Amino acid sequence: MGDSDTVAAISTPPGVGGIAIIRISGANTFPIVDKLFRPGRKDRSAPTEAIKPGSRWRARYGRAFGQDGEFIDEVILLTMPSPLSYTREDVAEISCHGGTAVARGVLKAVLDAGARHAEPGEFTKRAFLNGRIDLSQAEAVLEMVNSRTERARRAASEFMSGNIGGGLLASRAEIADLMTRIEASLDFPEDDIPGVELEEIAARASEIAAELENATNEALRGRILWEGTSVAIVGRPNVGKSRLLNALLREERAIVSESPGTTRDTVSEVASINGIPVRLVDTAGLRQSEDPVERIGVERARTALAEAEIVLAVIDGSVAVSPDDREILSCTPQAGTVVVVNKSDLSQAVVESELALISGPRPVVHTSAVTGMGITRLEHAIEEMVLSRVSGAAGAGETDGFSSRRSDCLRRAAAALRDVRQGARDGMPPDMLSIDLRAAADALSELTGATTREDIINRIFEQFCIGK
Ligand code: GDP
Repeated sequence: MGDSDTVAAISTPPGVGGIAIIRISGANTFPIVDKLFRPGRKDRSAPTEAIKPGSRWRARYGRAFGQDGEFIDEVILLTMPSPLSYTREDVAEISCHGGTAVARGVLKAVLDAGARHAEPGEFTKRAFLNGRIDLSQAEAVLEMVNSRTERARRAASEFMSGNIGGGLLASRAEIADLMTRIEASLDFPEDDIPGVELEEIAARASEIAAELENATNEALRGRILWEGTSVAIVGRPNVGKSRLLNALLREERAIVSESPGTTRDTVSEVASINGIPVRLVDTAGLRQSEDPVERIGVERARTALAEAEIVLAVIDGSVAVSPDDREILSCTPQAGTVVVVNKSDLSQAVVESELALISGPRPVVHTSAVTGMGITRLEHAIEEMVLSRVSGAAGAGETDGFSSRRSDCLRRAAAALRDVRQGARDGMPPDMLSIDLRAAADALSELTGATTREDIINRIFEQFCIGK
């Protein structure tokens, strides 16, 4: 993608709306606009081509014409001269009447006048290539645009506004400082680094590693808020799984019935639980069955149990704990399961001591899916579990490719710094410490996109929609 060419796209979603916006960016933006935009009669200002770099944004009313001189629409033209624009290039936005045909007509006029159709995410990519935002902020833009809940949007916009990124820059500057000090000692090999100096290096490395671990938690938290998590609802038939799912969704979705075994398949829906997008999977009653249709459901329940990050193990509080309940609970993980004692609006037959015995370390929440009692507490328990798993995941070395790119870079930087700390304590030669410090600095450069491979950068921007 050459950065000298000028690109354009419809930035508003397809379909009929009040207005649509065509965005143009690049060195030829204003000459292109001049070919199709004619200002209103009272507007005596110079053509847009004459706009000087760094001058103010302006909105002008006028009309747009096609190449053949055909009138297309009345428009508002917003001009944002370089470098005070989203991409840092000359940018114009033409607002026309909403409606696919009008917007396409204006876009065609812009393309006919010499612009190229923008690739997905190309405007944001240009903002990155021109140094207005770093790569981690570009990813946050993507997350913000695609956020499914308000809380996820806020987390992304915080990252984008640089609150977290700013802290990372400071960490990198400190690493650079340590490197300079070590390299100075390398220039004079006859002077070993004094012990006190090594101790200080160990202490600083350890502090920066702690800061990076904090940032990793934030990145993971943001990722969970963006991607959401999955919750499997398991339990014997008829304990109220479907009704609980509905109570959490606050709408009717799963089939509720009086006869055991009617939720034959898994039903999955995304709910916003305290701002976290949660895919709730209602499973068919976990039990042996001869009915082939039901058996598929049971199979799916086991898969859902294996794949879900959090499990709600539901028992019916109005009857005594049964062997089936015990068996189902024993299949659920100790960390990541909430025991839900449902039907607490009815008189209770569950014995507390037995409940404590079968639930072990799993938190217990009493609910009634019918009256709604305890549902807020259950939502809170799910939220706590999701967020506590963030800190757990930060330590575990698991990565799953691009989506955890940020946390992966941060983790590598922190690990390298911990090696520096250990090395300094063990009195390792300074050139060895230097290698680990370099690795930490490189991981952070990768995070901000300073040294990220082009294919990874391209993969990130391919995820954007056209016009962003
Ligand atoms: P599932 O087989 O576990 O999905 O159970 P359902 O959600 O289909 O519920 C089975 C029966 O229990 C239905 O008649 C529900 O109305 C009833 N039920 C579910 N939850 C409660 C509850 O909290 N209190 C009472 N009283 N009845 C409930």
